[in-house]
Amino acid sequence: MYQIDLSGKHALVTGGGTGIGRAIALALAKAGARVTITGRRLEVLEEVAALDGRIFPRVMDVTDEENIRHTITEAIAADGPVQICVPNAGIAETVPVRKMSLDFWHRIMRTNLDGVFLTIRECLPGMVDEGWGRIITISSIAGLRGLRYGGAYTASKHGVIGLTRVIAEEHVQDGITANALCPGYVRTPIVERNMKLIAERSGITLEEALAAMVKDNRHGRLIEPEEVAEAAIMLCGPHSGSINGETIAIAGGQV
Ligand code: NDP
Repeated sequence: MYQIDLSGKHALVTGGGTGIGRAIALALAKAGARVTITGRRLEVLEEVAALDGRIFPRVMDVTDEENIRHTITEAIAADGPVQICVPNAGIAETVPVRKMSLDFWHRIMRTNLDGVFLTIRECLPGMVDEGWGRIITISSIAGLRGLRYGGAYTASKHGVIGLTRVIAEEHVQDGITANALCPGYVRTPIVERNMKLIAERSGITLEEALAAMVKDNRHGRLIEPEEVAEAAIMLCGPHSGSINGETIAIAGGQV
């Protein structure tokens, strides 16, 4: 892993107990940052915190504005202004647009878009005061193109990119960068769940469902969470200040 020194920095990773968020949290802690990880399941967060003394778990539901405000305020009081914000928590469910209820649409948007907006909003003032900040959103290749049956997910991930670009514009003079990582299919619980669903719905084996997903990754394999973490670390590096408002596809080739 690309090595940098983030000692003295406080990072926040939502959804830091599993998958991509877990890998990013571990990488940031290894680089010396104090890392607050959040999610709804304390026991899952505590397992990750047990791996590195610089990781601190806090329960936070990204669909609850007051809970976000309160939790981030407490984390800042304990570990200082959040200078690296990774609003990673997200859910991925699919249904064709013609069959999608408004409730389903809102549920995806509340987690994947409202949650990202609220998390960033609570971290920005501290970054402005410090004159240095890194916002690393986790969009998706579905933020760059249309994912069949993923209407709400795709719209939410396009929205994350729009928000990231606006923040990059609004804070370009503040020493803050905002960039969106856009992974293809990564080996995480989301993909395991969707693989099972595809297999059940289509009457195919798990191996066939996996093959159907993996063919969208141009190098023909699942991406490891650590490969996404590597890009996040690079965006915090000493010479990263000129990469701003970008989308970085991590999909094994051109999408
Ligand atoms: P995971 O399911 O492992 O991670 C999702 C995390 O989000 C979990 O830790 C979960 O914790 C948390 N979360 C979900 N809902 C909420 C909520 N309401 N409040 C707080 N935390 C919540 O999957 P991934 O690691 O794959 O997903 C991480 C991000 O990466 C997501 O935004 C996803 O869309 C994105 N992504 C994933 C890809 C993949 O192929 N895996 C590809 C492209 C993007 P808990 O349940 O404990 O709350």
